[in-house]
Amino acid sequence: MNAHHSIPQPAIGHSLDGKPSAANEEKPRLLIVDDVFENREILRRRFQRQGFDVTDAGGGIEALDVLEREAFDLVLLDMMMPDLSGLEVLAHIRSKHSQGSLPVIMVTAKTQSEDVVEALNHGANDYITKPVDFSIALARVVTQVERRRAELKIHQMNEALARANEALERRVADRTKDLVHVNQQLRSEIEQRERTQATITHLAHHDALTGLGNRLLFHKELGDALAHRQRHGGELAVLFIDLDGFKAINDTLGHATGDLLLKHLATRLRNTLREGDKIGRLGGDEFAIIQFGAGQPNEAAALAKRLIETIQVPFSVDGQSLVVGASIGIALAGGEYQDSAQLLRAADLAMYRAKTEGRGRFLFFETDFDRQVKERRELEVALRTAVEQDALEIHYQPQVNLQTGRISGFEALSRWQDPQRGYVPPNVFITLAEEIGLIGVIGERILKRACAEAASWPPETTVAVNLSAAQFQRGDLVSVVKEALAASGLEPGRLEVEITESIFLQGSESNLEVLSQLGALGVKISMDDFGTGYSSLSYLRSFPFHKIKIDRSFVGDLPDGQSSVAIVRAVCGLARSFGAATTAEGVETEGQLTHIRTEGCTEVQGYIFSRPVPADQISALLARSLAPST
Ligand code: C2E
Ligand code: MG
Ligand code: MG
Repeated sequence: MNAHHSIPQPAIGHSLDGKPSAANEEKPRLLIVDDVFENREILRRRFQRQGFDVTDAGGGIEALDVLEREAFDLVLLDMMMPDLSGLEVLAHIRSKHSQGSLPVIMVTAKTQSEDVVEALNHGANDYITKPVDFSIALARVVTQVERRRAELKIHQMNEALARANEALERRVADRTKDLVHVNQQLRSEIEQRERTQATITHLAHHDALTGLGNRLLFHKELGDALAHRQRHGGELAVLFIDLDGFKAINDTLGHATGDLLLKHLATRLRNTLREGDKIGRLGGDEFAIIQFGAGQPNEAAALAKRLIETIQVPFSVDGQSLVVGASIGIALAGGEYQDSAQLLRAADLAMYRAKTEGRGRFLFFETDFDRQVKERRELEVALRTAVEQDALEIHYQPQVNLQTGRISGFEALSRWQDPQRGYVPPNVFITLAEEIGLIGVIGERILKRACAEAASWPPETTVAVNLSAAQFQRGDLVSVVKEALAASGLEPGRLEVEITESIFLQGSESNLEVLSQLGALGVKISMDDFGTGYSSLSYLRSFPFHKIKIDRSFVGDLPDGQSSVAIVRAVCGLARSFGAATTAEGVETEGQLTHIRTEGCTEVQGYIFSRPVPADQISALLARSLAPST
């Protein structure tokens, strides 16, 4: 409390209530309000000397006027003034400035202690009494000014803090935004990776063409299904599907067409299944289905039937109408077949059986099939042995010309008498020979022997030899026929080859080429078993056949079978229009013979005349035939 009391310079430009303040001026600004001029003068000078910037006002109204225009650090306010009392002025000031932003120190007479209390209650910061002791006054003024400055400083710091806080919050927000962004990137990267992984897994387990599960996935699904069944029971069936006639489409129309067909087919199969059933493509034209359901075996049979029907509906591919069939094998879980490989193999075996029994059908697996597969393998060995030992024989069945009533030729039919099995029908061993690649050797031997045999028959008597489609595929058929003719000396016109419609299904173009080369040799070509299989009249137009043989299944129906009657009539008429001969196969009764004759058929072959006989009985047959009829 002395004259050297120093006042720190405030460095802030705004008062607490936001108005410009004197705090940032060089000196603290003091407003002295007193109606007595001398009082004002004394205080003004002394405060000025202490480094204050002093303004004075001679009354309340003037003071409020000055305060309107200028900012101060403190007001020294006289209590007793004629125009406005100090308390009134104080009330005005406090209506605009807080205690903190503009301190007011009341100057009172010693006797006015009640007023002092009131003034303090109305917001005066402090008071001093008259006559003024300057050192006390200075001390109180400095205290108030410093408090004000400190408050300003705190405010300033608070503001700085608030700003810093704001900045911090902004940074946190920015950082959070960054983090969210990075997080999103990470997540999308993870998702991308998961998608890639899923694609890889999908590719490993699915067939790219049809989108169905592949063999790998199917095995897994079947394994899972069987494991589930072991724990919880339930029935399930495996259906193994193999297409009939698909290879022909692939070979003749190309793989692109085949692929399209498979795609359509996959959709059809999927739509035929119940939800929950599984389907997979095992490869090529093989599909497999796991069927769940309590009603086995009836449900599996019903599904197989539905599948076969659905598959048979023509597919429209590239503007063409394509037809395939299906053979289906079914194996039921349980019994001796527990694991997925065994069960699938069982269904596969059943499918194979369905195929050999005539295609377009389904079969349930029977334990017998295993035995049959074993038997087939044994039959294969036996056939190889028979071929090695040249044990196959040929029987001949006469063909009778209906105009002359005489034998015009013989069909050569191979015979195999196995030491253990006895008679094995050619349908069985010829098919087996085709499958195991023996047909070339067998076919060549039969051709050579038949030609050699026929060379000793009366002139003009023909010999008919059956050729299988597999022989056309070997590429040496023409030279084999040439050799057989050359070796036997048989006139080419006395050799007939019998082919079936199946040669038009596989590699038909090159087969047709072979056919015309054979025709060019002078050999006659017959269409065998016409009306069965993939029968189409268009085949008849693709090559000038010498003879059409009406299959014995139609002949057997005569004369009462309506559709057979119609077919026989149509074929005879067609053949006539082509200038081809017709042979009715398998004629057994007089009724059939009469009917055939009236339809204008040119030739007959059947038990009614003779069964196929060994070569040494031919001369007797011929003698009978040539003898004048009675
Ligand atoms: P395919 O060429 O249609 O031969 C006619 C079949 O009908 C012969 O059966 C014959 O015995 C039989 N048959 C003839 N007349 C009658 C009859 O009145 N009633 C009945 N129920 N059947 C009659 P096979 O000898 O059992 O031959 C069956 C098939 O095996 C032949 O049918 C032919 O496709 C094939 N085949 C026979 N030998 C050969 C051969 O050397 N090579 C080839 N590639 N196939 C052969
Ligand atoms: Mg034949
Ligand atoms: Mg036939």
